[in-house]
Amino acid sequence: MTNWSRRAFVRTFGLGGVAATAVPQFVTARGREAFGRGPAAGAAQGAAIIHLNSNENPNGPGVKALNAVRSALPLANRYPYEEAGTLTTAIARLHGVQGSQVLIGCGSVEILRMAMQAFTSRTRHLVTAAPTFETPGEYADTFGVPIRAVRVGANLKLNLATMELEAQNAGLVYICNPNNPTATVLGAAEMSAFVERIGRASSSPAVLVDEAYHEYVDDASYKTSIPLAVTHRNMIVSRTCSKIHGFAGLRCGYAVAHSETIARLARFKLETGVNQLAIAAALATLGDRERIERERTINRETREFTRRMFESMGCAVAPSETNFILVDLKRDSRVFREGCRRAGVVIGRPFPPLNNHVRISIGTMDEMQRASAIFKRFI
Ligand code: PMP
Repeated sequence: MTNWSRRAFVRTFGLGGVAATAVPQFVTARGREAFGRGPAAGAAQGAAIIHLNSNENPNGPGVKALNAVRSALPLANRYPYEEAGTLTTAIARLHGVQGSQVLIGCGSVEILRMAMQAFTSRTRHLVTAAPTFETPGEYADTFGVPIRAVRVGANLKLNLATMELEAQNAGLVYICNPNNPTATVLGAAEMSAFVERIGRASSSPAVLVDEAYHEYVDDASYKTSIPLAVTHRNMIVSRTCSKIHGFAGLRCGYAVAHSETIARLARFKLETGVNQLAIAAALATLGDRERIERERTINRETREFTRRMFESMGCAVAPSETNFILVDLKRDSRVFREGCRRAGVVIGRPFPPLNNHVRISIGTMDEMQRASAIFKRFI
């Protein structure tokens, strides 16, 4: 949603300024940064805040998704049982798997939560990376599950060898591929060798491969792990409609896995977690190859512009297979992040231990051009 339409939302629902900008009580640090207001609103003197902090698709949902959502609005009085079945079947068809090998969720975070509940415990720990997407680690804290977080390598790739060592007696290994925030990928050969080795261990843990950024990848060595997931028990691939598909605000994600694994996850699913509008949008867009290609191209061009801009300022930018870049400022990133925020550009949160880095989501070309003047000011 653009800043303008966020304001329109507030107007439409008659909310006062205070209600509109107050951070809800139980929002995570990740959610809080998305507000991008507070000090920034004053400093930017009413100018639109540029949100480059949540790796959303700045182009929004496509026309087909918007039309589908409008058509589905009259269904809002009905529980989406039947429609959830239709979407599950459509996703299965899209990936050439059985309906019993797919589970939809209220965003892919619901899949991550189900996997934590199904496979980890106080005695079966979580293996994750540092840094990586934080949600599994946050659920581990909530559920009292021990965490082993393995630092990424000097090349910013997941350190699979050490993750494998830490996987002994683990409940779940979380592999974000491509990894958020480092934007790196693991190749198909590395992934399948890892899964085979893990599977041979006695009391082997489940492996969750989070492919939230799958559609953006160009690296030819990368492949989806879905074929591995349907043939190996206790292996899960998660996908989302929040990134290239452009409807993070509707909340829809899904898991693909062996049918026994899906059944184990489903014990923890929300009764009806994906709403009518999200289902309609997903049905209209998930298989739209033309739109996906268009979005990939736009992202690649804008990402290249952004990379060159940071490199011209002497920063190091890691190769990116995603809709964000990780920039090494070569000094503590806090001052830069806060300066940008005050000037109206909200960038990604800190990702320790990479304290000299900032994660910049790719906005529209216009947003990146406007943001570049502010980046230059604070480098
Ligand atoms: N996985 C990764 C790697 C992410 O970066 C994100 C969101 N930034 C998610 C999952 C959550 O996505 P969703 O909106 O589907 O819950």
